Amino acid sequence: MTATLIDGKASAAKLREKIAAETLKLKSEHGVQPGLATVLVGNDPASEVYVRNKGKTAEALGFKSVHVALPADTDQESLLAKVRELSADKSVHGILVQLPLPKHLNEAQVLDALDPAKDVDALTPTNAGLLLSGRAHLVSCTPAGVMLLLKEYVGDIAGKDVLVIGRSLLFGKPAAQLLLAANATVTMAHSRSRDLPAIARRADILVAAIGKPELVKADWIKPGAVVIDVGINRVDAGAGKTRLVGDVDFEVARQVAGAITPVPGGVGRMTIAMLLQNTVQAFQQADGQ
Ligand code: NAP
Repeated sequence: MTATLIDGKASAAKLREKIAAETLKLKSEHGVQPGLATVLVGNDPASEVYVRNKGKTAEALGFKSVHVALPADTDQESLLAKVRELSADKSVHGILVQLPLPKHLNEAQVLDALDPAKDVDALTPTNAGLLLSGRAHLVSCTPAGVMLLLKEYVGDIAGKDVLVIGRSLLFGKPAAQLLLAANATVTMAHSRSRDLPAIARRADILVAAIGKPELVKADWIKPGAVVIDVGINRVDAGAGKTRLVGDVDFEVARQVAGAITPVPGGVGRMTIAMLLQNTVQAFQQADGQ
C-alpha cells in the first residue's frame, strides 16, 4: 500500500486565499485592517526564521504587522511592559510571543500579562480553559490546522480511535481536546507510556508531536491508518548539510498507512495560516465586524 499524501501546502494555500479575501473586504468596506504583533526575545536562528515568516505572510495577506525584537538579556519587567503595551494597543488584534523564552524569563507571567482576546496562539490559561469547557474562541494554531486537514481528508472522525503522542500545552493537550470534541476516542501517550508501538497499532488516526526524529516506525502503524506527523526536526544530511524530518519514519510509514502528512509540506504549512485566521477572528470579536 502506498499512502495518500495529505497536502498541507495546498490546504494552507486555500486558507490563505480565503483570509486575503476577507482582509481585502474589511479594508475596502470598513477601512479597517487586522493587526498582528510578534515578539521575539533573543536571536535564536530558528525562531527568527519562524517569526519573520509569520510577519511576511501577515503583510502579504493585507494585515498590519508589528515586530518587536528584544535583546536576549531583556529583563522580566521590560518584557511584561511590552506585552501589556501591545495588549492595550487598539490597532493590534493578535499577539504572538515566540516561545521558548530565554531561561531567565518566566513564561507563565508573560502569558498572564497577555490579553486572552489577543492570544492568537491560545496559550493563556483563559483560552486553554475555554477549550476544555467547550467554549473555545481562539484555538492553538497547529492543532486547529490538524483538525482542518482531518476534516478535508477523513471527514467525520466520530468513534475513531485516535492516539496523540505528546502532551505539550502547545500541541498535544489542545489537540486531544479538539479530537474529543469531534467525538473521537482519544488516547494520549508520552515519554512514560509503556509499549507505545502496541498502543499505536490500535489507532485509526495516529498523531505524533514528539520532537524525536523518525521515532514512529512502520510496525507502529495499523495498516490503512491516517498518520499526522507534527514533528519538525533538523537532522544531519551529510556533506555539512541538514534536512527536516518529522517524528515519523516517512519512507517506511507510507507503505503501511492509508494517508500521511509529509514533513515538510504537511502540518507545518497550516500553522501560520491558522495564526492569521485566529487574528481575523480576534479582530472580528474586538470590532464587532
Ligand atoms: P514538547 O513540548 O517537547 O513535547 C514533546 C512531547 O513528546 C512530551 O509530551 C513528551 O513526553 C513526549 N515524548 C518525548 N519523547 C517521547 C518518547 N520517546 N515517546 C513518547 N513520547 C515522548 O514538544 P512540542 O512543542 O509539542 O513539539 C513536538 C514536535 O512538534 C517538535 O518537533 C516541534 O518542532 C513540532 N511542532 C511543530 C509545529 C508545526 O507548526 N508543525 C508546531 C508545534 C510543534 P513528556 O511529557 O513525558 O516529557
